[in-house]
Amino acid sequence: MAKRISVAGPSITQREIDYVTDAVTNCWYGDANRYHDRFEQAFAAYHGVKHAIALPSCTSAIHLSLAAEGIGPGDQVIVPDVTWIASAAPIDYVGAEVVFVDVEPDTWCMSVESFRAAITPRTKGVIVVDLYGNMPRIDAIVEIAKEHGLLVIEDAAEAFGSIYRGQPAGSFGDTGVFSFHGSKTMTTGEGGMLITNRSDLYERACILRDHGRVPGDVSFFNREVAFKYKMTSMQAALGLAQLERAEELIGRKREIFAWYRDDLGHSPWIQLNPELEGGRNSYWMSTAVVAAELGMEKREIQDLLARRGIDTRPFFYPLSSLPAYEHRPQAMLARARNEVSYKLADRGLNLPSALNVTREDARAVSGALLEIVASVIPAAVD
Ligand SMILES: *Cc1c(COP(=O)(O)O)cnc(C)c1O
Repeated sequence: MAKRISVAGPSITQREIDYVTDAVTNCWYGDANRYHDRFEQAFAAYHGVKHAIALPSCTSAIHLSLAAEGIGPGDQVIVPDVTWIASAAPIDYVGAEVVFVDVEPDTWCMSVESFRAAITPRTKGVIVVDLYGNMPRIDAIVEIAKEHGLLVIEDAAEAFGSIYRGQPAGSFGDTGVFSFHGSKTMTTGEGGMLITNRSDLYERACILRDHGRVPGDVSFFNREVAFKYKMTSMQAALGLAQLERAEELIGRKREIFAWYRDDLGHSPWIQLNPELEGGRNSYWMSTAVVAAELGMEKREIQDLLARRGIDTRPFFYPLSSLPAYEHRPQAMLARARNEVSYKLADRGLNLPSALNVTREDARAVSGALLEIVASVIPAAVD
C-alpha cells in the first residue's frame, strides 16, 4: 500500500527508548519521581521560569490555572474563537462563562482590539492561544490584562519553541500551558505542563492537583476535595529525552515549513503561517489558507488531497459555531462579531507536518495543492 503522508506525528530515537526503559525498570520505590524532577527542572530552565508542574494533559494545566486563581461561577474568561476546544472547555469545568473574541488576519491569533472590547466588570481571565506555532501580539494583550487585573493563561500547546521579542512562547502570562499529545512538536504520548513565575499559583496548583494534599504533609491528610492530575515516570522520561532534542525537533518543523514556503510562497492564492518580525515560529502545523476568490472550502480541498494519499486537517472551526456552544448567548454574539475567525476557518487547512515528512513528500503535497488551485482559477478570474 502506498505510504500516506501524515499530518502529524513524532520523532522517536534510541534516546527516548533508553530513558523510558530506565524509567519502567528503575523508577519505583524511592526513585519514583526521578524523571519528573529532571523533566520539570529542565522544562522550567528552558523557558526561563521558576516553576513547572508535569501533568497528564494541557487541558488539566488550564483547569488548574483557573482553579488555582479561584475563578468560578459569575466570572467571565476570554478566549479566541478559533482554537482547539481544550483551550476553552476548562472554563466550564470551573463554572465560569466563556467569551469568544476574534482573531487577527495577519497572526491568526487573538485580536488585541477584540479582546479589549470584550472586557466587562465580570472578566477575570484571558486564555491567549499561540495558534499553530504563530504568536499573537502578546505583549499588548498582557498589558491590557494587567490594567484590568486579569489572569493571563498562555496556551502554548502548539508553540513549544516559538519565540516572540526574544522570549519563549509560554513564558508571557501568569501561567503557560503545554501539551505533549502525540501530535505535538514534543510528545510524551499524552501529557502536559504548567509553567509559572508566580509561587502562590504554583503552590496552590500543587495542592489542587493532588487531592488537596499539601506536598510534604502527613500522608492521607486531605485538606480539601480537589483533583488528581499526574503523569507517569515513563512519560516524564520520554518528555526529558524529547526536550533534550528540542532544537532538533523545532529545526525539523522549520525545515518542513521552509519547503512549503519555497513551493507555495509565490502563489497569490495561498497564504501560509505568518512569522512576526524578530520572532521565531516553531510551525507546529504548516498551514495554508486559500483565497476567498477561489470559492473553495476546506473540506473540498481536503477530499481532493486525501484521494492522493495526503492527510490534512481542517483549520479549527470557530468554537462559537460548534454544537457544543451553539445555543449560548456568548456564541450568538461571537457569530455576529468574529468576522476574521469565520473567514479563516472556512478556507484553511493544516498541511502534512509530521516529523517524518520528507522533501519529496512536501513537494508532492505542494504540487497537488497547486494543481487543485489551478483547476479553479479560471472560474475565479471570470
Ligand atoms: C493540543 C491542544 C490542547 C490540549 O492538549 P491536551 O494535552 O490534549 O489536553 C490545548 N490547546 C491547544 C491550542 C492545543 O492545540
